Amino acid sequence: MQYRDACQQILETVQKLVSINLIRLSAGNISVRLEDGTIVITPSGVGYDVLKAEDMVLMDLHNQKLSGSYQPSSEKALHTAIYRSKPEVNAVVHTHSMYATAFSSVNMELPVISIEVMSAGGPIPVAAYRCPGTDAVGEVVVEQFRQRPGLKGVMMKNHGLVTFGLTLEKAYQTAYEIETGAQIYHLALQTGRQPEGLTPEQVQEIYDVYHSPKKN
Ligand SMILES: [Zn+2]
Repeated sequence: MQYRDACQQILETVQKLVSINLIRLSAGNISVRLEDGTIVITPSGVGYDVLKAEDMVLMDLHNQKLSGSYQPSSEKALHTAIYRSKPEVNAVVHTHSMYATAFSSVNMELPVISIEVMSAGGPIPVAAYRCPGTDAVGEVVVEQFRQRPGLKGVMMKNHGLVTFGLTLEKAYQTAYEIETGAQIYHLALQTGRQPEGLTPEQVQEIYDVYHSPKKN
């Protein structure tokens, strides 16, 4: 992806995340990896209601700003840690979405209680708490998906959610899927009964149905 396309796509994704209430005010940040290995990331301290495509910041994978009027997001180290660890990943979405953050605060991983969580590579674990804005946040998140290669997102304790994907659209979808799964899990727990997740066999069966060649 080229720089200008990335800036525009990040802006549109921020607006979509705001419209579905995954991002409020300026809590959350997004980045995309360009073909030359640099990344474009949302700026720090700019309200998403006034954000423009030209406000995005170009930086390298070692957190050095290359161009842009603003400073890069305060969570830049989280983004670059993921890109350095996963060469196939081209986009990262970080939100403070409410239900995922709530489950992170009680250190409860999100079981595969729906197709959404299955699609996100669930169950979705909670990474240990580290101070937001530090390199340590990226380290504990990377540790989670090193152990689970199929994972597409991680909850960050007392902080929020981070997702990643081959494209920005996929990382966006995963953020939606995990937050939706967290809402469903929350509602199910209100019954007082223990929600039953999909078994590994049921997950495999769904996968086979979705990926089998169509008959006609
Ligand atoms: Zn954050």
